[in-house]
Amino acid sequence: MEKQILIKKAKAIVTCNAHDEVLYDADILIEGMRIKDMGPDLVAPDAEIMDGRDKFVYPGLINTHHHFFQTFIRNQINIDYPNMHVVDWLKIVYPIFTRVTEDVIYYSSLVAMADLIKHGCTTAFDHQYCYTKASGKFLVDRQMQAARELGMRYHAGRGGNSLTMDQGSTIPDEMVESLDVFLLDCERLIALYHDDAPYAMSQVVVAPCQPINSDQHTFEESVRFARDQGVFLHTHLGEGENDLMVQRHGMRTLAWCQERGFVGPDVWIAHGWELQKEEYQVMADTGTGVSHCPGPAVLGGFPILDIPEMQKAGIVIGLGCDGSATNDGSNLLDSLRMAYLMQTFHGKVRGGSPSAYDMLKIATNGGASLLGRKDLGHLSKDMAADLFMVDTSSLELAGTLHDPQNLLARVGVTGNVYLTMINGKVVYREGVLLGIDEKKISFDANMLCGQVIGQI
Ligand SMILES: [Zn+2]
Repeated sequence: MEKQILIKKAKAIVTCNAHDEVLYDADILIEGMRIKDMGPDLVAPDAEIMDGRDKFVYPGLINTHHHFFQTFIRNQINIDYPNMHVVDWLKIVYPIFTRVTEDVIYYSSLVAMADLIKHGCTTAFDHQYCYTKASGKFLVDRQMQAARELGMRYHAGRGGNSLTMDQGSTIPDEMVESLDVFLLDCERLIALYHDDAPYAMSQVVVAPCQPINSDQHTFEESVRFARDQGVFLHTHLGEGENDLMVQRHGMRTLAWCQERGFVGPDVWIAHGWELQKEEYQVMADTGTGVSHCPGPAVLGGFPILDIPEMQKAGIVIGLGCDGSATNDGSNLLDSLRMAYLMQTFHGKVRGGSPSAYDMLKIATNGGASLLGRKDLGHLSKDMAADLFMVDTSSLELAGTLHDPQNLLARVGVTGNVYLTMINGKVVYREGVLLGIDEKKISFDANMLCGQVIGQI
């Protein structure tokens, strides 16, 4: 029989299921990778017992947009994103990215995923498009290695850029790849890492970086290739590029993507704050989803996504912390609260704000939908055993325990969680990442960061 774990007498289990059930003083029986049962007084004589008293249990958060490789340029005094013009910002950050090596990818991925896991995230998507002479091609491979070592469920977006700066791209020519090279590497990665079985720990997504940095063939062939392979598609869209797209192609980015076939239930985009109301229906009708990244929107001073209107139109929305060149952290609980506060800012003029629990469902249900995962996003029988616990006996939480559903985004549980379990395995507990030597990795990561990136 597969290993069983019985979480006994959890103070509350916030299921995030379709009925929004919360179970009080209840148990969760985990068998292998999945939840076998939930309810009061479960019996499993062979199970390892885990004490759930004083703990609120939540479904693992799902991060739907990130650039792990950027974690080594956080908190750099000369990169003051809120006070910089985006062109000046690009001029500083991209030359640094051309120095990124395979080892930088490995260590920066460990750093980002550690931050995610310690804040309740159990499934990470990363958009990796930093392919240069210095980096080589085996970058997703090193990310997969990092994910395996931490026990993280990982969806890798293989990014790419096909236009040179002469042709209107905003990224250095060192990062440009031909369409053939890009698709061949996608094919290699899918063969090695894409698993579409239930409870899969790794998948691959075809993710050309953004429409202004690639030609139309890149997007058209990405669509053809991804659908042929049965994998999902992702890109940046609606993050300030529309004027340029209209100048260049005579149409807005969503229309351009639609002409390329780059819309559908197997496509989700990052940002979308520049989408217009009439474009919401195109997104909804085609089933194209949005990863909402509150961090860069606030730091860049961009419009706040109209989540109620988008949801009313039928658009699926997930949460993302985004890359560390803009958002200096991978703490998804922090992004969750930020997203909630941003919505409340417009609550009076938009006829109401989503609740803190609505935002949690975006970070769980929504994320699972964007990634096409039917086995993730809520705590129910036969779902993957991805969850995290918050210790409600911490003094700072006294007086807040009336409402477990709204706690995270409303109160702001932004410290490390008590425990994170992924696919039935405890990967983090009481301050310790299990199975790795955190101090050594942290030392090595700082050394490498100093050698390769340094002070800017
Ligand atoms: Zn991004």
